[in-house]
Parts: sequence; structure tokens; C-alpha cells
Amino acid sequence: MKLDYEELGLKVGLEIHVQLDTRHKLFCNCPTTLVKEDEEDVFIRELRPARSELGEVDPAAILEWRKRKKYEYYAPRSASCLVEADEEPPHELNREALTIALAIAKALNMDIVEEIHVMRKIVIDGSNTTGFQRTAIIALNGYLTVGGKRIGIQTLCLEEDAARKLGEDRDKIKYRLDRLGIPLVEIATAPDIHTPEEAGKVAFRIGQLVRLTGRAKRGLGTIRQDLNVSIRGGAKTEIKGVQHLYLIPLVVEYEVMRQKKLLEIRDELLRRGLKPEDVSGEIYDVSEVFKGTKSKIIRRALSRRDHGVYAIVLKGFKGILGVEVQPGRRFGSELADYARVWGGVGGLFHTDELPGYGISGEEVGKLYEYLGADPGRDAIVLVADHRDKAYEALKAVIGRVREAFKGVPEETRASQIDGTTRYMRPRPGSARMYPETDIPPVEVTGELLREAEKYVPEPPDVLMNRFIEEYGLSRSLAEAVLNDIRVDLFERLVETYRGRVQPSIIASTITNTLKMIRGEGAPIENIRDEHIEETIKLLAEGLIAKEAIPEILKYLAENPDSGAREAAEKLGLTTISLEELDRIIEEVIRENMDAIKRKPNKAFKIVMGRVMGKVRGRIDGRTVAERVKDKINNLLKT
Ligand SMILES: [Zn+2]
Repeated sequence: MKLDYEELGLKVGLEIHVQLDTRHKLFCNCPTTLVKEDEEDVFIRELRPARSELGEVDPAAILEWRKRKKYEYYAPRSASCLVEADEEPPHELNREALTIALAIAKALNMDIVEEIHVMRKIVIDGSNTTGFQRTAIIALNGYLTVGGKRIGIQTLCLEEDAARKLGEDRDKIKYRLDRLGIPLVEIATAPDIHTPEEAGKVAFRIGQLVRLTGRAKRGLGTIRQDLNVSIRGGAKTEIKGVQHLYLIPLVVEYEVMRQKKLLEIRDELLRRGLKPEDVSGEIYDVSEVFKGTKSKIIRRALSRRDHGVYAIVLKGFKGILGVEVQPGRRFGSELADYARVWGGVGGLFHTDELPGYGISGEEVGKLYEYLGADPGRDAIVLVADHRDKAYEALKAVIGRVREAFKGVPEETRASQIDGTTRYMRPRPGSARMYPETDIPPVEVTGELLREAEKYVPEPPDVLMNRFIEEYGLSRSLAEAVLNDIRVDLFERLVETYRGRVQPSIIASTITNTLKMIRGEGAPIENIRDEHIEETIKLLAEGLIAKEAIPEILKYLAENPDSGAREAAEKLGLTTISLEELDRIIEEVIRENMDAIKRKPNKAFKIVMGRVMGKVRGRIDGRTVAERVKDKINNLLKT
């Protein structure tokens, strides 16, 4: 189904976060690299309920507080210090990070603030040991031109990255502190984006621009995109953590679909003459109905102390919970998210999907009878768990169902790998920021601004000219490189291997080769910059022929943990010596002597074809042709 986005009044704003590749973290002297294994100190903290100066309580904060989890921090000695552990005040703002942020602000035509004030933004999920994230506004009110259209840039902030989540169990969440404090720029656009494709293009341009400073970190997790999406009559929904650029158009499309479906559900409820106040808050214990059930989940719940099956009746809701709101997700899935998040339960059952999951038709019938509900009109939601958790879960479900009469609730949602989203928490209120008193304000001096000049990326048309005139690329190849996120990698490799590898080979590796092997089914999203870098290095050192590049990258896409050298060796693509080539040619001649004698004028063709079959990708074709010609001429002379 093709949606008419203009008609729907689609508005999208982006928040792009990119890690900066600085020598030190934002507020201490630790390096900005993640560690694999290291000597670590471990400490546990409980959440300290943090409030803003205004004393308002944020709904998102209440949610985390209710979970009452403990946080376990792993502090690697090589990549964290007392600052990350919140046992020492932060040092002054990292000048290198600030300079890079100023350069990005200039490239985005922004108004740079005169004095930088670090603020504290409350975070309550334990991802920061302090209970807040430090952030500073660097610039405001800029723009970027994408496809001839001006997209407003509202703010550019410099922030510290959060700790890295390692895992979670029933009562604690584990974090590693190596990532905490790595500088991030956060670039927020105005809601000027009106189609899913445009959202993808704008995110791409911003990511590319930051990379062109030469000081952005690369690789999975170094760039994260949040989206704000709304349609007319819907609500601004914040979608967190889209990890891949290519997912952005799909995430937007699915969110439009979800809001549209929720509006249709609202209209249907009104058409049925239902009202929010008719949604009963009553929760029933229906364990008795399921004595002797075949459902494993319910049997397990019933066998434990203080556990049971609990239910609510949604009068007049039959069929509504089964409405698909995103591919593979129903309105019932939206309710299940609330049950999970607020009650900590595994999920729920609803009658639009029953009988099923081991629950029989007879049990469903008994359930309706037990609750005095109408099987032709009403829906029933069940949760099988500890009584307290089930009550919390069902209360949250009732709240969400009442919201359905308004249409789309304001939510923060998490992006999933298939492009769908799930509910995370309510949208945070405005009571989340207060000044960081440990760090003095920083004046943006003329000296700082001049220093920033060296990082300001060149505009696309200047790059284009340079690629054609200086590097000798064709116009179409230069365009392809400019339309690739890895344009900075291209520049770096051209500089590094000047005189050894032709720029056009590097350009077509980054653009055409990757596209070609994707066409052959290789998962190229696994290809990291280092993979390409190592492959070009092998070529520069004469260890592979350029013909070997596609095979090596294909192998690396499928085996991202190996290196280019290992790939070349495994595939038998390392270059062969001239002696070895001669030996192969002689062998082929020997084997085909009869055919050569019969048709001497076809001799070259016969031998060349067979030899190439053995050495393709390991030495360049021109050398092979020369040697084959020599040998055959010698042979025919004798
Ligand atoms: Zn540190």
C-alpha cells in the first residue's frame, strides 16, 4: 500500500548522535576506545531518585524508580577513572571535542553561542553513574540543503555518551564504563521532513558531514539516530536508537502506518458508541477457570506461590485487539508492551488470539461465562504471573486502552531491527535539565573559532571538482563517491596510498564493488571501514591483484571477524609469483599439446583461457597474456 504522506500531514524531525574520535573523553583524560577484556573494578549502586530543581516528577523517572533495579558497573582501569565512577568532579570541557563541534556548527550554517554552559539532563535508567548526562548547547538555528530543499537544524549539542549496557537480570542491570564520557555531537533537525525517503537522505547527509571533519568515530554503534514522527491528528512519537541508515525510511513508514491504524481504531470505538469511562478498572482472579489447562505458561504460573491468572474485561472491544498496526504487530502487542514495561511480566493473552497457545476453546468459553462477558462483543485480557506484577501490568493495560479513545498516545518507543517499534516509556517532561555547577562556562573566543576552521568539511561541489581534477575520477564515479557515507574513507585511502593505488580503484571498491556483491546476496552491512582499508593495503603491497577485491569483500561480509589477509589466503587469492605463473602455463601447454598442434593459430586462445581459469584474481590478466604469448611463440618456433 502506497501512502500519501502529504495528505497524511507527515512530519519528521531527526536527532543524530555521532561519537567523536578525540584523544580524551569529554570530562576526563581517559581514552575514547572501548575495551574487550581488561582488569576491571566492579561496584554496585542503587538508584538515587533524582529530581529537577523545580521538584517536578517526570513520568519517565517514576517508571524507572518503580523497577527498583540495582546497577552493577564494570570499570575497566584502562578506559575509566574516578570521574566515570562519580567519585571525582568532572574536569573542564575537552577543547578538542569543542573545536570539532564548532566546525560542524559552521558547516551547518548555525548561530554559535557566545558562552557554553554545561547542563545536567536527568537519566534514570542507570546508564550514567551520576543519574544525569552532561550536555551543552553549542549552536542554534542552522540549515542544511538536501535535494534542493532547506532543512532547518534546531540545535547542536556536545554531550557525554552513556555507559555500555552488558546485560540485565531480574534485579540488576550491568553496565561497562568504557563508553561513558566519550564525546558525542547531537544534531537535531526541525520537523521539516515530509517523506520517509527524505528522512533517510537528511540523516545520510548529516552523518556524512560529521564524518568529513575526519574526527568522527566509525563502525556499528558510533552513530545513532532518533526520530520524531507525527501525522495529522496523531501525536509526536519519539523513536530511539535506529542503528542503520537504511532502516530510517522503513521505520518512518511503519510509524505512519501505526498512527493511522490507531486513529482508525479510535474511530471504530466511537462508531461502536464506546467511551473511555466505560472501560472498567476491575481486575479478576480467574485461576479457577484454568485448573487442568494444557497451556504451559499458565500451568507454570499456577504452580507457584502467590501466582495466578488475572483478567480484565474490555466491553465492546471484540476484534479491536487483533487489528494489525505494524507488520506482525497487533493492537494487542501494543497492550503487551505496557504490561511488560510497567508490570515486568513476560506478556499477555487476549481473546482475539484465542483459542491458541495451549488454551482451548472450551476454556475460552468458560472464561466468558465466569466473567459474565459477551463472547460476541467483548474482549478479555489475561496475565499469568505473580499477583502484584499481574495487577500492575493490567492497570497499565487499562490505562493504555483508555488512551485508545484519543488515538495516538505520546510515547518514547524503541526501534527494532525489522523496522517496527515497541513502547519504551512515556515521553519525558520538560523538567529534566538543570545547570552543572562543577564546570565553569566556556567563552567561545575568536581563537577557538579559528582553530575550528581546520575541521570544517568542504562543501559537496568543491569535493566534486577535486575528485575529478585532482584524482582523475570520471564524473559518474565522483558522484557515486559523494553519495556514499564513506566519502571520508575514500579521501583517507587516496592520501595514504598515493602513487601505489589508483584513486579510481579505491572509489569503485567503495561504491560499485560493494553494490555488486550486495546484488549477489552478500550482507554488506557487515563490512566495516577497516575491512576495506586492509584490502586496499594488500593491493598496495602487491599481495593481491585488483581482481581479487570483490571475492575478499564478499568473504568479509560473511565472516566479519576475519581480516582481509586471512580472507585472501583462505580463498587462495594471494598473488602468485612469476615463476609459479610460468610453471602453470607450461603445465597447461603440456596438457593441451595435441590441440595446439592441430590448431596452432588458436593456441593462444586455448592456453590463455585455461591459465586464467587457474589464476584469476591472483595476478593481473595483462601479465598472464604477455607470458602466454611468449611461451607459445617460443613453442611454435621450435
Ligand atoms: Zn576517566
